[in-house]
Amino acid sequence: EITAEGIGKAYGDFHALRDISLTIGSGEFLTLLGPSGSGKSTFLMILAGFETPTSGLLRKNGADITTVPAEKRAFGMVFQGYALFPHMTVEQNIAFPLKVQGRPDADIKRSVDTIIDRVGLRGHEKKRPSGLSGGQQQRVALARALVFEPSVLLLDEPFSALDKNLRSSMQEEVRRLHQETGTTFVFVTHDQSEALALSTRIGIFNHGQLQQLGTPKDVYERPANRFVAEFLGDVN
Ligand code: ATP
Ligand code: MG
Repeated sequence: EITAEGIGKAYGDFHALRDISLTIGSGEFLTLLGPSGSGKSTFLMILAGFETPTSGLLRKNGADITTVPAEKRAFGMVFQGYALFPHMTVEQNIAFPLKVQGRPDADIKRSVDTIIDRVGLRGHEKKRPSGLSGGQQQRVALARALVFEPSVLLLDEPFSALDKNLRSSMQEEVRRLHQETGTTFVFVTHDQSEALALSTRIGIFNHGQLQQLGTPKDVYERPANRFVAEFLGDVN
């Protein structure tokens, strides 16, 4: 369980986030929606430990983790433009988190092999990131985040560069992973149908503030305010 208590993030006079308080239950699939610049990625970066909030606290199972560095949180992450290791092949990039954990080579090979099929990268194992398309690179990043089966996965528009078919198969894959592994997902997307299909709850951001948090049914049937109603009504 992750709890945000009054999280704020200011850059000088500009408040990217204001007073965000919410609890993300273990095994939940929370999707963050909101206009561009509303603070979704900033909130995810704070959860990941890549940014420190300028106010408020973050807890994991009650313990204060506000200043715990990202590598000690061990959350799986796929961010917009999240860098792959350029000198490593696809295979080596995906294996990296397992190598760090010191898993036996045979285990690593098996896990990497499974995940390569899952994300549709068969045939690209020996390539380096510079030899892949943007969508393929994003799939490598997703595979790398999934391979060590983290308890929390933070995904910032992980499918935005994928074509429609691949996008829906990845969506299915993520849904299956959520159901089978009990991993907690925090997912940012611009795609409302994706949010509806996958989420246990949806959080809606605007101007750095959490406008509403509820089940898909809650937010669609009982929008908390005019902004939420108009934002959700404004389907493409
Ligand atoms: P998008 O949907 O376009 O990805 P977002 O909801 O993820 O948008 P954020 O990236 O969280 O939005 O940005 C929130 C606001 O904070 C934006 O106005 C952005 O310009 C600002 N911001 C983010 N990082 C910084 C920074 N390092 N310095 C100053 N302002 C920043
Ligand atoms: Mg963003």
